[in-house]
Amino acid sequence: MTVIVVGGGNAGMCAALSAREAGASVLVIERGPFHMRGGNSRHTRDIRHAHDRPDQYLTGVYDCDEFADDLRKVGGGISNPALARLLVDESAALPEWMARRGVQWQSPLQGTLQLGRTNRFLLGGGKAMLNAYYRRAEELGISVQYETTVDRVVIEEGGFKSVIVSSPGGEEEIPADAVVLAAGGFEANLEWLSRYWGEAAFNYHVRGTQYNDGMVLASLVEQGASSVGDPQSFHAVAIDARSPRFDGGIATRLDSIPFGIVVNRDAVRFHDEGEDLWPKRYAAWGGLIAGQPGQVAYSIFDSLAIGHFMPALYPAFEAASVSELAVMLQLDPARLEETLATFNCACRPGNTLDLAALDGNGTQAITPPKTNWAVPLTHPPLFAFPLHVGVTFTYWGLAVDEKARVLGPAGEPLNNVYAAGEIMSGNILERGYLAGMGLTVGSVFGRIAGTEAGSALRNPVSKRASKSEAVSPTSPAERS
Ligand SMILES: Cc1cc2nc3c(=O)[nH]c(=O)nc-3n(C[C@H](O)[C@H](O)[C@H](O)COP(=O)(O)OP(=O)(O)OC[C@H]3O[C@@H](n4cnc5c(N)ncnc54)[C@H](O)[C@@H]3O)c2cc1C
Repeated sequence: MTVIVVGGGNAGMCAALSAREAGASVLVIERGPFHMRGGNSRHTRDIRHAHDRPDQYLTGVYDCDEFADDLRKVGGGISNPALARLLVDESAALPEWMARRGVQWQSPLQGTLQLGRTNRFLLGGGKAMLNAYYRRAEELGISVQYETTVDRVVIEEGGFKSVIVSSPGGEEEIPADAVVLAAGGFEANLEWLSRYWGEAAFNYHVRGTQYNDGMVLASLVEQGASSVGDPQSFHAVAIDARSPRFDGGIATRLDSIPFGIVVNRDAVRFHDEGEDLWPKRYAAWGGLIAGQPGQVAYSIFDSLAIGHFMPALYPAFEAASVSELAVMLQLDPARLEETLATFNCACRPGNTLDLAALDGNGTQAITPPKTNWAVPLTHPPLFAFPLHVGVTFTYWGLAVDEKARVLGPAGEPLNNVYAAGEIMSGNILERGYLAGMGLTVGSVFGRIAGTEAGSALRNPVSKRASKSEAVSPTSPAERS
């Protein structure tokens, strides 16, 4: 009995370990080379999960009902309420499961978007988590094939047959008894994004791996698998425009927006920079910048803001005057002078400036308003960061049931085809996001998919030869 896992990120590794612990031989097929293994999961810092009590790493209670309620309140709405509830309920067991497989924790540090109560932080981040999983996989005899791309998943008679892969050694077909698809979304495929966003998509940056091009997802949908979610929606944040096109990770994000104003290429403000607390709003700015000419914007602040936001990867542009700054940014100096003067005049700071709360220091009689933290920018020097769209992930994916089985054209489960992680996250939310739930989705559904696929002998499609090494099942003690 062999299970192929496509993609060696968090969801894939949770599935691989679970399938192996259920008694199957497992082959993980990972497109990246060894040092790039783990996809977007390499960039993660924390995981959201329900818990009934605080502990050494969490500052308070976050029970299942509150987590479920937070999910319901997310802008885009829940796609499948039953799967969303399953996610929440199963999330409570994750810390113990992860720790047993070598994952370690740390207390939240500054600059963590105030998530210390709801989210558990990974010691060493996602990279250390993945290393722990890969170490465990090696101990269990799981095979990993790097630098191998699954070009096509072959579905025959309503069930899994094989994968067609290409690698430096050439192309081959690898049959197995079951497959878990954990190859991420299609956020790195700018051509695909351009179908919905036009030429603008080619100006986007992709915060994570360039390998998540959605080809596995496309292969399944072409063969009749049901899809779920909104193909047009993606999660995106404001990143430094000087960041690499792919894989810049967490360090390229800029958090300076609430401390000043944001203007577009025409040196005009276009959105309320003080709309809500930063943890709730930071993910809105990617989409807002995507709607601006050239998909570029500029976060401008003065010396009072220095030291108040997460350190930036690149230095800010610095100028003694507005016109000097405008020249540096190639903006119209007169227009920027006007925008800044209008903003400064409209500020009505009456309360003590409080960046941790909605302090009510708003503007008056300008459009768009700045509803909180509006303080005139009158303390030179002036600073600016150029902003671009940093796409984190897409939502559209494969429809699954509560056993993580991929659904066919009429909603019936395909035989021995499972999916986990970003490739099926559209089953939970169509758009919107709760920080730290990307790992929750991958871990919960990775575990379910792996366990189900590993037990698929109960419902075999057929016995097929496997090219992967045969390994013996683990002891019951390891199946926790
Ligand atoms: C900068 C950044 C920070 C983030 N921070 C957090 C955080 O702190 N907490 C959180 O919960 N979420 C975070 N996320 C979201 C999180 O990374 C994802 O939700 C999660 O990692 C998805 O896991 P996955 O296993 O589905 O995909 P991935 O981890 O992306 O893994 C997919 C794997 O599939 C491989 N692959 C792709 N195509 C193929 C193919 N055709 N053949 C073979 N292999 C293929 C890729 O190489 C990759 O290794 C962050 C994302 C980014 C970009």
